[in-house]
Amino acid sequence: MITTNDTIVAIATPPGEGGVGIVRLSGPRALPIGRAIVCPADGTDAWPSHRLVYGHAVDPATGRRVDEVLAVYMAAPRTYTAEDVFEVHCHGGPVPLQGVVELALRHGARPAARGEFTLRAFLNGRLDLTQAEAVLDVVRARTPTALQVAVEQLGGGLSRRLRPVAGDLMGVLAFLEASIDFVEEGIPEASVAALLARLDVAKTELDALLSTARGGVILREGLRAVLAGAPNVGKSSLLNRLLRAERAIVTPVAGTTRDTVEEPANIRDLPVYLVDTAGLTETDDPVERIGVERSRAAIAAAGLLLLVADASRPLEERDRAAFAAARALASETPAILVLNKADLPRALDADTVTALPLFDDAPPAAVVACSAATGQGLDALEDAVATTALGGASLSPDTAMVDNARHRRALEEAVEGLAAARDGLALTAPLDLVCSDLRAAVGALGSITGQDVTEDLLTRIFGDFCIGK
Ligand code: GDP
Repeated sequence: MITTNDTIVAIATPPGEGGVGIVRLSGPRALPIGRAIVCPADGTDAWPSHRLVYGHAVDPATGRRVDEVLAVYMAAPRTYTAEDVFEVHCHGGPVPLQGVVELALRHGARPAARGEFTLRAFLNGRLDLTQAEAVLDVVRARTPTALQVAVEQLGGGLSRRLRPVAGDLMGVLAFLEASIDFVEEGIPEASVAALLARLDVAKTELDALLSTARGGVILREGLRAVLAGAPNVGKSSLLNRLLRAERAIVTPVAGTTRDTVEEPANIRDLPVYLVDTAGLTETDDPVERIGVERSRAAIAAAGLLLLVADASRPLEERDRAAFAAARALASETPAILVLNKADLPRALDADTVTALPLFDDAPPAAVVACSAATGQGLDALEDAVATTALGGASLSPDTAMVDNARHRRALEEAVEGLAAARDGLALTAPLDLVCSDLRAAVGALGSITGQDVTEDLLTRIFGDFCIGK
């Protein structure tokens, strides 16, 4: 049950030590609570809106100073939540911050749930749902381009593109619904043609947006690129090479297992998780078997396969076996054939590998000769990774992109409803059927911006946020 009539409190800055830590209150009692626990140094109690005030957080029960602070009262509606907000800027340590939170709780605030500040901004109409979701994307952006897309969405870029389409479809829907009752002999042909044209315009716009989804979703969620091949062909060396250049701006991912190594990399500004697999050969050793299972799971979940061969020696049975096993687990996943050790005399040509039966149905998307030892060919490998991942689409971070799987599914639903409505209208199907398809399309668009959402969906979306955001 979502409530917005009480006052919530949380630490808004990350855990640990820092220069500054912020406790944020939002709700109708933000000012009275803030005023009760912060004493301005100048002895006044005026609290003008949007003005920083220097003083101390003090426990009124004992008079004990909790911390020396800067505090700010921000009157609704020009605040993050569009409610009254009070922030206490403490020294950035867990004890002073927790001390201020305790004081606020004792004065009637309630601990905020995950994402509850942003949820309130949404419920109060300051942000629509795409913008609220973009808040998290900005925080979590892993590359500058991903950030640019998230910031565009935070500014309402996607909603601005969707709103006129949804508005026009609602216009068509209203006209058709009215016609059900009032037009006995059907809609005149000229009007049908005009309505079809409007539906076509809407579909073209939605298709254009959907075409950005492949790159957009990779930007937001990352691409899992799995290295597979026989032992000693240079998989780990390639992983290290691909990481080195960008290591400084990537962050480590938790959950790395000792047998399947996963590292975040930035490849042509795409956030890529490089996964080095331990091996796929069946074994009796129980520990190794866990490693094999993890490798298999990693390959099955891959967005891209890098099939690595050692080009300084002829192809062997273990190469064929490793490639075949990987392909069997991920038959639909695009693959790049990497001929590594290109610094050594060449004993393997690409044709020998691509002629393998496992490539009969789907040849590799690219073949790249390179050397993890010298770095030659690594640029070409990075290009191939980016081009294959995007499937020919390009990134357009300066215009609205669909970067969220939820939005993509809803857009697909909208396009489906729209196509069905269009066909129905063209074939003079009963108008109530056409209306129902069109209503589904409008509803799907509404679920993206949040005009048409359930509490369940909100709980799921904001449950992903951290506390204090
Ligand atoms: P993995 O078992 O497939 O992960 O292979 P490694 O990355 O452990 O490499 C196996 C061996 O091949 C090591 O001795 C590496 O130094 C060597 N190696 C890897 N890549 C290259 C390369 O491009 N050129 C040369 N000459 N040696 C390489």
